[in-house]
Amino acid sequence: MSLNNLTVAKFGGTSVADFQAMLRCADIVKNDATNRLVVVSASSGVTNLLVRLSQQNIPASEQQSILANISDIQQNILVQLNDQQLSDEISVLLDELAEHAKAQGINHSKSIADTILSYGEQMSSRIFAKVLQSVGVDSAYFDVRQVMKTNSLYGQALVDIEQLQKNAKEYLAPKLQHQVLVTQGFIGQNEQGETTTLGRGGSDYSAALLAEALTANNLAIWTDVVGIFTTDPRITDQARSIKEISFGEAAEMATFGAKILHPATLIPAMRQNIPVFVGSSKEPEKGGTRIQQQVESRPTYRSIALRREQTLVTVKSPAMLHASGFLANVFAVLAKHELSVDLITTSEISVAMTFDNPEGSTQALLNSTVVQELEQLCEVSVEHGLSLIAVVGNQIHRTNGVGTSIFDTLKGINVRMICQGASEHNLCFLVDEQQANEAVEKLHSSLFA
Ligand code: ADP
Ligand code: ASP
Ligand code: MG
Repeated sequence: MSLNNLTVAKFGGTSVADFQAMLRCADIVKNDATNRLVVVSASSGVTNLLVRLSQQNIPASEQQSILANISDIQQNILVQLNDQQLSDEISVLLDELAEHAKAQGINHSKSIADTILSYGEQMSSRIFAKVLQSVGVDSAYFDVRQVMKTNSLYGQALVDIEQLQKNAKEYLAPKLQHQVLVTQGFIGQNEQGETTTLGRGGSDYSAALLAEALTANNLAIWTDVVGIFTTDPRITDQARSIKEISFGEAAEMATFGAKILHPATLIPAMRQNIPVFVGSSKEPEKGGTRIQQQVESRPTYRSIALRREQTLVTVKSPAMLHASGFLANVFAVLAKHELSVDLITTSEISVAMTFDNPEGSTQALLNSTVVQELEQLCEVSVEHGLSLIAVVGNQIHRTNGVGTSIFDTLKGINVRMICQGASEHNLCFLVDEQQANEAVEKLHSSLFA
């Protein structure tokens, strides 16, 4: 079989949550011979358990119960497969995991944390390769760490893309001629041979990088919803699936919090112009969303994304008035602490900036030395508990009445900061966390009714 028509298929956590779910995915792979490379996430819930396991100072009893919990999730699948060799392999991995957890308890390190986090994908990929074999697909397990080389920024490692392209052609492509390969999303390996991870939800990104490296014809992201919706279907049952969306719009959605895609997923796909399909592994017959360069329609309003846990920092100084260099100093402090600014607005003597704050990480940093360092330069105020809403569409910056349509709808909701103009694809603003769902529901019913 040649690789002239190659689809990289990625299955997320719920898609490989249990044996039945895995069987549905196996059918999807089997029914389309172009599916040659399969990228899987950890079975649903496993990575969350591993995150807890990787933390410092967790009680031994909790460690044991987490390990038992993870083992149960995998064993429930293994009993259905009844493959002694596989069960033995998974037992070895679970023993290794227990050892790492013990080591982490004695001497905590970020490197061990990443190693611990990788076990979900290590297990699900081995298991899924066997599930594929059980339905008659000639398939094998492939360790992605052979090709996905990264730096040592544990938890958020950056992939060496050139190296990946070289490695993929050398080690992956020849094997794909003969067999379907099942590999791991989310994980990589640094120069020292240690395991690294690419950030939560990173399997989408892994799959996109592999698709790019292999110059695949398609990337298919199989998840638990029938494509990309006009907003998160968990917020409103009015949300509906979008048939077709451009790279630019979908990338903005992912960037601004639509959990359906990891924020970086579309970057490799765009570089190589690889169309991306998003669909539900539970209901593949229902179709899904196609993300590509050329689309038939480019509506003003395409979707609404919501990102919670945002931090707003306002810096104020009379020195800013007619002065140059003030902002450079502020950003030098932020850069030193590796804090990345999302939105920014300015007035004559003040600047407001937002920071993404997953699991309180930015909050912790801002509470420590950063604020003190900024206070050497200016007055600083920090607000937490905000949500970022992005209205995504086309020509938003050139369309009359967009602002009125949006903000008239939000009467009664305090809008904390507004950003628009830098991109044709979005208008963003902050609201109080408590009012975020209400704001999205109101906007959705007014813009998509
Ligand atoms: P997976 O484990 O397959 O990667 P995720 O949980 O990461 O799945 O992403 C799928 C979830 O993303 C959906 O269940 C849905 O609740 C959420 N989501 C957020 N925004 C959107 C959107 N605009 N369209 C569809 N799903 C969305
Ligand atoms: N298993 C990882 C996570 O839960 C990666 C992924 O699912 O994309 O974050
Ligand atoms: Mg995901």
